[in-house]
Amino acid sequence: MDDTLFGKIIRREIPADIVFEDDDVLGFRDINPQAPLHVLFIPKRQPLPTLDAASEADAPLLGKLLLTAAAFARSEGYADSGYRCVLNCNRDGGQTVYHLHVHLLAGRPLHWPPG
Ligand code: 5GP
Repeated sequence: MDDTLFGKIIRREIPADIVFEDDDVLGFRDINPQAPLHVLFIPKRQPLPTLDAASEADAPLLGKLLLTAAAFARSEGYADSGYRCVLNCNRDGGQTVYHLHVHLLAGRPLHWPPG
């Protein structure tokens, strides 16, 4: 049982603005958006808390999360202007929810290096 906030969103126990769903991936808008487009893409089935917990067997899922984010960015018109995919891992990476997720940010120039 995935008892994180995102597990509850997958099970529809708490509401979210869901913008994408297939058998493997759920995409929903971040509650505290950092850009005009800020969507989180999460795996629906494998309970993977962090990127550090991923193994070779998770490679297709990780690839799918990124490709899903890219396809969504393209469908929203951000392919040419650009966007950023971020995956925070553990404390110093800034991770706060321990259900692996890819942030998709777009719609404004994104600075580098990050804070
Ligand atoms: P992290 O810091 O773990 O990389 O990202 C977690 C993200 O989840 C944050 O950007 C935060 O704003 C978002 N978040 C936290 N609680 C909720 C919630 O209840 N609903 C939604 N849609 N996003 C949330």
